[in-house]
Amino acid sequence: MNLTITKSKKLKSKPDPSNLGFGSFFTDHMFNMDYNPDNGWQNPRIEPYSPIPMDPATMVLHYGQGVFEGLKAYRTSTGNIQLFRPMENIKRLNRSSRALCIPEMDEDFLLSALKQLVEIEKDWVPDAPETSLYIRPTIYASDPFLGVRASNTYRLFIILSPVGAYYPEGFNPIKIWVTKDYVRAVRGGVGEAKTLGNYAASLRASEEAHKNGYSQVLWLDGVEQRYLEEVGSMNIFFVIDGEIVTPSLNGSILPGITRKSVLALGKSWNMKISEKRMTIDELTLAHESGKLEEIFGTGTAAVISPVGEIKYGEKTLTIGNGRVGPLSRQFYNALTDIQYGRSEDPLGWIESVV
Ligand SMILES: *Cc1c(COP(=O)(O)O)cnc(C)c1O
Repeated sequence: MNLTITKSKKLKSKPDPSNLGFGSFFTDHMFNMDYNPDNGWQNPRIEPYSPIPMDPATMVLHYGQGVFEGLKAYRTSTGNIQLFRPMENIKRLNRSSRALCIPEMDEDFLLSALKQLVEIEKDWVPDAPETSLYIRPTIYASDPFLGVRASNTYRLFIILSPVGAYYPEGFNPIKIWVTKDYVRAVRGGVGEAKTLGNYAASLRASEEAHKNGYSQVLWLDGVEQRYLEEVGSMNIFFVIDGEIVTPSLNGSILPGITRKSVLALGKSWNMKISEKRMTIDELTLAHESGKLEEIFGTGTAAVISPVGEIKYGEKTLTIGNGRVGPLSRQFYNALTDIQYGRSEDPLGWIESVV
């Protein structure tokens, strides 16, 4: 397939690198590609970043048939640009698409298009410590049609956003809120897909958590509301009596690539690390008996988020005196060292761009 490239005539001025935040600035170009039943995925093109004019009947606006991904490009100290396990994101995009009846993409082609886009925008990859270029591939249902069915046509786009350090004031624990009133996903639903509606459905619980002084929601399973699942946009790990555990994938948990990488690293270091079904009561008991040593979240945005406090009903669990635990720090350092090329890449996770 032939990728056409149209360069922007007027480049934007770059934002202040010390004030990037997350998801507010976008680069000069984007990747676009369309699907129709006659030609399949076709017309791949890199062109100037621009708004998408849309018929008000466009199906994604009404029925939420859309999926997305999130990954980052990192600048190394020698100025090279590299990606962390990008094929994992592309495969997950296809798995999410399958769950939403969206036609799948050629994975090798999408990876090469993504790399070309990042290469064209290489000057947008910031070089301040712990900054990166966030990459957001999205697919949406584009038929102008009212009525619930899968769309016949789709648009895939990739946009890029330079993002700042997640911990500008240093690596700090967060406080999370366990909700009994809401669930994120249910058995047989789309919890394991990165699909639009999951995030819309999480907003009310997040706002309630924020109002109570907590930054994220820890979700329990949607059937019995006993089993620990994940946090907002992160998976979750517990260190109990020297053993590291994360909830096993059950169809309603998003299979995070950072999660998978932590499991692989821990195993490569011969740690006791495993996937397990665990209830909130077991967690509370572990805390009461003094065995709950650390909790941390994993996700592309923050890499590792140490958790200093959990609120469940009337109970407030303080973890590790509210300080960052040694394993959280070890995984954070190991992963970011690989991502920024400060260490070897022992498990073959880096894909270089330029
Ligand atoms: C994206 C996401 C994660 C983390 O996945 P990574 O691949 O590690 O970034 C976890 N939970 C949810 C709900 C997510 O959307």
